Amino acid sequence: GTELDTALFAAWIEEISRTVRTEKDRLTRLDAAIGDADHGTNLDRGFTAVTQELAGKEHDSPGSLLALVGSTLIRKVGGASGPLYGMAFREAGKALGDVSEVSVAELSTALEAALSGVQKLGSAVEGDKTMVDALAPAVRALAQAAQEGKTPQEAVGAAASAALAGAEATVPMQARKGRASYLGPRSVGHEDPGAASTALVLDALRTAVT
Ligand code: ADP
Ligand code: MG
Ligand code: MG
Repeated sequence: GTELDTALFAAWIEEISRTVRTEKDRLTRLDAAIGDADHGTNLDRGFTAVTQELAGKEHDSPGSLLALVGSTLIRKVGGASGPLYGMAFREAGKALGDVSEVSVAELSTALEAALSGVQKLGSAVEGDKTMVDALAPAVRALAQAAQEGKTPQEAVGAAASAALAGAEATVPMQARKGRASYLGPRSVGHEDPGAASTALVLDALRTAVT
């Protein structure tokens, strides 16, 4: 269809949990290079808790589902990424309100809200070598796709590709936020773990809508 319902959002979250589990070691290896080697573990713990929280419950709307994902991540994941991802999902959920079907335009607004939440909390801008470097291009791609009247499949596909390119573009950057910034110029030459996981999150959405 042209709209995304609660079941689709639940499938997205399930797909994130699955991908995070599969990619846990890669994410942790990225974090070992420029951080403290826990990013994969942090996200896996968080999304395992989210899966448990969501299991066997009826959800009123995509918005309330995402808000619950956000609050669970804030509760269960320590470090920088827990509150940041938690904020992203919570703000996206709030932006969706209680609509039962989400259009590409509404999804675009929600992803913009997620990005603003992350930036309000972490004050990173593009180029700081963080998850913002994957999320911001995805937000732009989705906004453009909405403008052009693209289908959800096309729009989400474009956003996922933009996030992946954004994550890959963090390799030559020097980190200016988070733990990796303590390394100064030695943070150059490695992909940012949070940008890599953000690309996975958006790719999981592509899988769910396809
Ligand atoms: P920690 O650094 O506390 O161990 P994680 O390893 O789980 O937490 O997450 C690290 C990721 O968090 C980084 O790769 C980066 O993408 C993201 N991050 C850290 N600080 C910020 C910030 N201020 N704004 C946005 N993202 C950030
Ligand atoms: Mg870490
Ligand atoms: Mg840590």
